[in-house]
Amino acid sequence: MAQDCIFCKIVSGEVPSDTVYEDEELFVFKDINPQASVHLLVIPKKHISSLADVTEEDYGLLGRMMGMAHLFAAKAGSTNGFRSIVNTGKVGRQDVFHLHVHVLGGEAPLPPMIYRNS
Ligand code: 5GP
Ligand code: ZN
Repeated sequence: MAQDCIFCKIVSGEVPSDTVYEDEELFVFKDINPQASVHLLVIPKKHISSLADVTEEDYGLLGRMMGMAHLFAAKAGSTNGFRSIVNTGKVGRQDVFHLHVHVLGGEAPLPPMIYRNS
């Protein structure tokens, strides 16, 4: 657990979240500021700052995060596809430095790209 990491605090329960799924490695919860009717965040319980900080030992974990995303999307009501986004570092406009995969979807097709105002 990294001190002052909001997502580590969500994993530990110190900060509440709308939890969708949890196992020994992964934690999935609803984004607090949804950009689509389904907007989940899939994170590792282990603190990894970003996709630029993964090491070979994390490859299996990353595989599970991406490989299980369709199950979380479908369970949340996005049964005809979804979009997964990983913002990385300054260039990728990452705000929270605990690795996360955004899973965005819903019943209707998403816009060509998702833009945030801030
Ligand atoms: P990033 O820009 O780092 O890719 O995305 C961070 C995401 O985390 C944003 O979509 C933001 O709404 C979400 N987020 C930030 N703080 C919290 C929080 O305390 N709870 C939840 N559920 N989501 C958060
Ligand atoms: Zn963390």
